[in-house]
Amino acid sequence: MDVVPIPQLADNYAYLLVDPATATAGVVDCADAGPVLAEVRRRGVRLVAVLATHHHFDHVGGNQDLVAALPGLQVFGSAAEASRIPGITRPVRDGDPVAVGELRGRVILIPAHTSGHIAYHFPTERVLFTGDTLFAGGCGRLFEGDAAQMMDSLGRLTALPDETRVYCGHEYTEKNLRFAAMLEPGNRRLREKREAVEALRREGKPTVPSTIGEEKATYPFLRIDSPELAASVRERVPRVRVEDPVAVFAALRGLKDNF
Ligand code: ZN
Ligand code: FE
Repeated sequence: MDVVPIPQLADNYAYLLVDPATATAGVVDCADAGPVLAEVRRRGVRLVAVLATHHHFDHVGGNQDLVAALPGLQVFGSAAEASRIPGITRPVRDGDPVAVGELRGRVILIPAHTSGHIAYHFPTERVLFTGDTLFAGGCGRLFEGDAAQMMDSLGRLTALPDETRVYCGHEYTEKNLRFAAMLEPGNRRLREKREAVEALRREGKPTVPSTIGEEKATYPFLRIDSPELAASVRERVPRVRVEDPVAVFAALRGLKDNF
């Protein structure tokens, strides 16, 4: 599988996933059809599917134009959000299969940012599309769920193999890692990752993909066991019950929302 990030709007990514064996492609999350269709033409592939992670406009705003340009296009999206996903033809639930050419993926339900948010996992390719649930060094805001639900959803993703490549919905990495470094300045892997990310951004390059292993080593919300992190949170939110992981997670979410 080739995965091509296509910048959308201010800081979104659509991803063209290409099956070279059949010269077919799918697109994960499309806010703006123009750049996606241009990339499809440039590569000489046939776009057969849209894979929507959730209903927000910056992830599905381009669906209608894609369908108009390519009649018969399959639009996958969460059954729980079907009424809010333009052009949907294939409502899917947790564990359902998805196919792009000969590539085989599966849906993982990861609610909290939205109540029906899904990820698309391609296990043989070791590729995961996480939308606005797991970013590189971050997670989405809790618009339709709570901290406990987000912890469960992130837990489903971090249970995947460490080498799984993570393609997320936004280029937020640099700011996310600045927040992480404030809380865990002694984390060597975080320092190294931050340097690499800053170098990429200086060249205007995307910081995706990350990997599940990198996220577990650097993303504070997944590092509630780190004593340095716990101490940092306690210093900033003195009343937090550090023995309760959900309370620490909620405190972190509050700190990040105001960062
Ligand atoms: Zn969103
Ligand atoms: Fe978004």
